[in-house]
Amino acid sequence: MQTYWGIDLGGTKIEGVVLSKPSPDAVILRKRIDTEADKGYDHILSRIELLVDMLRVETGYEPEHIGFGTPGTNDPSTNTMKNCNTTVLNGQPMVQDLARRLAVPITVANDANCFALAEASLGIVPDVVPDYRCVFGVIMGTGVGGGVVFKTALDSKPMVLGGLHGIGGEWGHNILEENGYDCYCGKRGCNEQVLSGTALQRFYYEQSGEQRKLKDILARHREGIDPVASETFERMLEYFGRSISTIINVLDPDAIVLGGGVGTVDELYTEGFERIKKYIFNNGVVRTPLLRPKLGDSAGVFGAAML
Ligand SMILES: [Zn+2]
Repeated sequence: MQTYWGIDLGGTKIEGVVLSKPSPDAVILRKRIDTEADKGYDHILSRIELLVDMLRVETGYEPEHIGFGTPGTNDPSTNTMKNCNTTVLNGQPMVQDLARRLAVPITVANDANCFALAEASLGIVPDVVPDYRCVFGVIMGTGVGGGVVFKTALDSKPMVLGGLHGIGGEWGHNILEENGYDCYCGKRGCNEQVLSGTALQRFYYEQSGEQRKLKDILARHREGIDPVASETFERMLEYFGRSISTIINVLDPDAIVLGGGVGTVDELYTEGFERIKKYIFNNGVVRTPLLRPKLGDSAGVFGAAML
């Protein structure tokens, strides 16, 4: 049997999956081990090698190709990693090193791209918009990211738009709020520093002096008992409208999938959708479906397998 192999490299866990071809929704084996990133780059490579060996032994299959979802991205001009929050990977020729160690052709993509690819090929998008050509996947969680997936023809396989610099879809570090919070990327007020769960909680804390989880803040807003919670909610909606309108103005995708913890907030699909109308360059008309992801935690590793 032919198989798809995917590895999702995270800061704390490495997850691997073997899927059957041609029906990739059938999982043959899925496994997770610790990354142990604190032990350095070579150690991470050996952990990946170990996981691939475990998948080989336990399934009895050999990979023809392995797709990798990673933090950050491989810079196509230098063939080294960059923008990784697992910082020991930055500057490393990980694609070459992995291909040599594993003796298999590999493809690497950013984890947000893998999320978008998974939802576009095996997730919610084919259910709702079967004849799509372009999809944008948004992740709004502890961080904020994005990925672009497109098809060259309706019946072709969806592909990730990596881009000239390998930063295709990196919407999370567009500047959204002038003089906003400092970002690890060296700029200020990036989407990530406004719309991530962490940033919204920080805003609430600075106004109220109280530490609360976003879920709690939103509940307090809905109950109408906390003006600072309502201010945080309003801030989220307004900036959501602005930032999503930029995606539509540039790419005009057939659907946008909202992943991550903040992406589960119900009002984004109603009131947040209305705010997009305020900023879009289309006389206030927005038809872009905002979709809830279907694959949950599996999206990263499934998307890697689909690369
Ligand atoms: Zn940034």
